[in-house]
Amino acid sequence: MIRFALTCDQGHGFDAWFSSGDSYDEQIEAGAIVCPACGSADVEKAPMAPAVLRGKAKSETAEKPAEDGQKQTYAFLKDMREHLKANADDVGKAFPEEVRKMHYGESEARSIYGEASAEEAEELHEEGIPAVPLPPLPEEHN
Ligand SMILES: [Zn+2]
Repeated sequence: MIRFALTCDQGHGFDAWFSSGDSYDEQIEAGAIVCPACGSADVEKAPMAPAVLRGKAKSETAEKPAEDGQKQTYAFLKDMREHLKANADDVGKAFPEEVRKMHYGESEARSIYGEASAEEAEELHEEGIPAVPLPPLPEEHN
């Protein structure tokens, strides 16, 4: 499985899993991939995808993007956070739990954001729950 970070024509970022790069191409062409935020089928790969989706639990220094890439990633994350703060509830580390509750109808569906480890994000995906883990911004570690 390959995970791609995607963005729609409205600038929403999200991720999706594909069995292969070809599968991605086919599904995009068929309009089968839609933005979970606005439903737009006009989506494409986000330029600095892998860094955005990396869980904070892993430190893979070997795959660190170049300095320009880091700046872009930072700006992208910042934009995404600002968008989320304006449009969704911060549930912090309860994110995987809250997402599950909504998925299984135990609580009302709403827009939320929060933190999930790589493992938690993986589990959510395996349960068929679309979720975008959002790593903390570098400045929040200071
Ligand atoms: Zn969208």
